[in-house]
Amino acid sequence: MQERYNSYSQYIRNTFGQRVQKISVDGGFTCPNRDGSKGRGGCTYCNNQTFNPAYTSAQKSITQQLNEGVAFFQKKYEAQLYLAYFQAYTNTYDTIERLEALYREALRHDKVIGLVISTRPDTISPQVVDLLQELAKDYYIVVEIGIESTLDRSLEHINRCHTYQDVIEAFDILKNKGIHLGGHLIIGLQGETVNDFIRHAEQISQLPIEFLKLHQLQIIKGTAMAKAYEASPERFNLLDVETYVNVVVSFVKHLRPDIILERFSSESPKDLLIAPNWGGLKNFEITEKIRKEMEHQNVWQGYSRT
Ligand code: SF4
Repeated sequence: MQERYNSYSQYIRNTFGQRVQKISVDGGFTCPNRDGSKGRGGCTYCNNQTFNPAYTSAQKSITQQLNEGVAFFQKKYEAQLYLAYFQAYTNTYDTIERLEALYREALRHDKVIGLVISTRPDTISPQVVDLLQELAKDYYIVVEIGIESTLDRSLEHINRCHTYQDVIEAFDILKNKGIHLGGHLIIGLQGETVNDFIRHAEQISQLPIEFLKLHQLQIIKGTAMAKAYEASPERFNLLDVETYVNVVVSFVKHLRPDIILERFSSESPKDLLIAPNWGGLKNFEITEKIRKEMEHQNVWQGYSRT
C-alpha cells in the first residue's frame, strides 16, 4: 500500500535492503547550555537520562558500548547493520581531535556502517563540517540538529540559548557536503498553537533536511519544566493523544513531501515521565493512529502546500 507520508522504514529498506539498528553511545560530552559557555541548567525539558539505555555509559569505551549494544540487539534480531548513535548531550562540542578519535573509534567497529550525531546548531564549526565531510566519503554520516521550535520566543522560553537563525546557519554550512541532515522538533511547547505548528512545517520545509523527528512535549522528572509544571500545571497545554494525532496530520500536510519522517512521538521511561499520560501507548501505535487519520481525511504529506 502506498504510504501517505515519506516513512523512514521505507527509506531504510530502499537504501540498505535490510534492518539498520542505531546503538546509542555516550562519548562523555557536555553541552554549552550546561557548562556556562552558552547557559547553565540546560533546556528546561532536558534530562539526559531519558536517552541512555543500560549498555550506554561514558565510563566505558565507545568500542565496549558498541559491543554490548550489538550483543543486546543480536538476541532480538539476526543479521543487521548498525549505526553508532552519539545521542546524549552535544556530540559536536569538544576539541576536533577528541571528536575525530571518538567518531573513528566507532567507525572501526566491524558491525558499524556509519554515525548518527545529535547536536545543537551553535556547535557546528567549519572544522566539524570538514571532519564530517571527510568521514562521509567512506561512511554513512547523519547529523541531527535539535531545532525544537521555529519561534524564537519559544526557544527563549525553554532556555535553548540559540535562535532559529542559528538553525538556518548550521544547515547552511552542512548542506551539499555528502552528510545526511536531519532535524528534531517538539510539538506542543507552551504558548504554541496549531497555527504555530503549521508555521513550523512551512519553515522546516525550507531547510535542506532529509529527515525529521517529531515528539510530543513531555514533562520529565528532574527538569526545570517539571518544577514549573508542578507549580502551575494549568499553564501547560499538554496534548492528549487524539489532539496530538490531529495536530501531526495538519503538520504533515504542510511539510515538504520529500522529507522523511523518522519518528512521530517519543516514549520516555515510565519512571521519569510526569505528563502527559498516554496510557503507555507505544510509538508504533501512535504512528498507526496518524496513518489511519491521514487515510480517514484522505490527505498525504505536502497536501496543503501551494
Ligand atoms: S536538550 Fe541538548 S542542548 Fe539542551 S541542555 Fe539538554 S543536552 Fe543541552
